[in-house]
Amino acid sequence: MLKNISNKKINNTTPALKISNLKKVYDNDFVAVKGIDLSVQQGDFFALLGANGAGKSTTIETICSLVNKTAGTIEVFGHNTDTERALTKTFIGLVPQEFNFNIFEPIIEIIVNQGGYYGIKRKEAFRRAEELLKHLDLWDKRKEKALDLSGGMKRRLMIARALIHKPKLLILDEPTAGVDIEIRRTMWKFLSKLNAAGTTIILTTHYLEEAENLCHNIAIMDKGKVIENTSMKQLLSRLQTEMFVLDLENPLSEVPHSDDFIMSLRDANTLEVELDKSRSLNMMFDFFNQNNIRILSMRNKSNRLEELFIELIEKNKEATA
Ligand code: ADP
Repeated sequence: MLKNISNKKINNTTPALKISNLKKVYDNDFVAVKGIDLSVQQGDFFALLGANGAGKSTTIETICSLVNKTAGTIEVFGHNTDTERALTKTFIGLVPQEFNFNIFEPIIEIIVNQGGYYGIKRKEAFRRAEELLKHLDLWDKRKEKALDLSGGMKRRLMIARALIHKPKLLILDEPTAGVDIEIRRTMWKFLSKLNAAGTTIILTTHYLEEAENLCHNIAIMDKGKVIENTSMKQLLSRLQTEMFVLDLENPLSEVPHSDDFIMSLRDANTLEVELDKSRSLNMMFDFFNQNNIRILSMRNKSNRLEELFIELIEKNKEATA
C-alpha cells in the first residue's frame, strides 16, 4: 500500500518535476534519451512535443519509474525517484498511450480497484469514482465492460483511473489520439479545469493545436535531446507573420492580389491571409473595402505552432548532420 506522506516540506517554488542529465540507453545499446534537463513548475500545463521516436514516452516512463534510467536524477515535488520511489509514485497520475485496463471488467470496478493500490477505502473510492465519471460523462456507462466503450470513452476512462488518488502531477501521453474533435474539446475543458484547480499537467500530443490551446510552457524533443524549452507565448512571438482565415460574403473565382500581404483561397468563400506583424489590420481592411470584398467573420489560423515545430526539427537535423 502506498501512502502519500513525507516529512519533507513542499513549498510552491519546488518544481513539480526536475530532471537533470537524464539518459536512457536500451539493452540494444540504442540511446533514446541523451542527457536532458527539464523543469516543470507547480501549476503548469506543460507540453512535451516531438516527432515519433523523439524520446518522449521513454522520458515519461522514467519519470514514473516504469523504465530504469541509465543516468541522471529525477525529482517529483522535490523527492528523488530513486530514493523515494513509492512516495513519488503517489504524486503522479499517468495516462499512458496504450489502453492497459482489463477490458472485461466494468468500468466502475476498474477505477475503484485502482484506488485500492493507493490504500483508498472502497467506499471513498466509489465516491471519488462517481465524481470523476460524472465529470467525464461516463457515469451512465459505469456498469458496462470497458470492451464495449468507444475509443473516446476508453481514453476518458484512462483519465478517470489516473485521477483516483488525486495526484498533484498528471502526465498524459497522447490523450486525444484518435478521438473525434467534439470529445477532444470536452477533454480539453476538463483538463483546463483540473489545471485551474491546481493539478500540474504534462501532455504529449501530436495535435499542435492542442498544445497551443492548453499549454503555458513547452519543450520540444528531437532524437533524444531537448531542442527547445520556453513559454508558449515566447515561442509563438517568434513568428514574423500572422495568419488569418476570413469568411467571405460572396464567393471569389480567383485570389485577389495585393503587394502588401499574401492571400490564398481555401475555398471560394474562405480566404487565408498572411500578414506581416509590423503591418496594420486597417491597411488590410482598406484593401478589402476598395476591392468590394465583404468579410463576414475572421479568425486566427491556429496551426502556427506547426511552422515553428518543423523549423526547429529541420535546424536540429542540420546541426546533427
Ligand atoms: P516517442 O515517445 O517520442 O515516440 P519513444 O520514447 O517511444 O519516443 O522512443 C524513443 C526511441 O527509443 C525510439 O527510436 C524507439 O524505437 C526506441 N525504443 C523505445 N523503447 C525501446 C526498447 N524497449 N528497446 C529499444 N529501443 C526502444
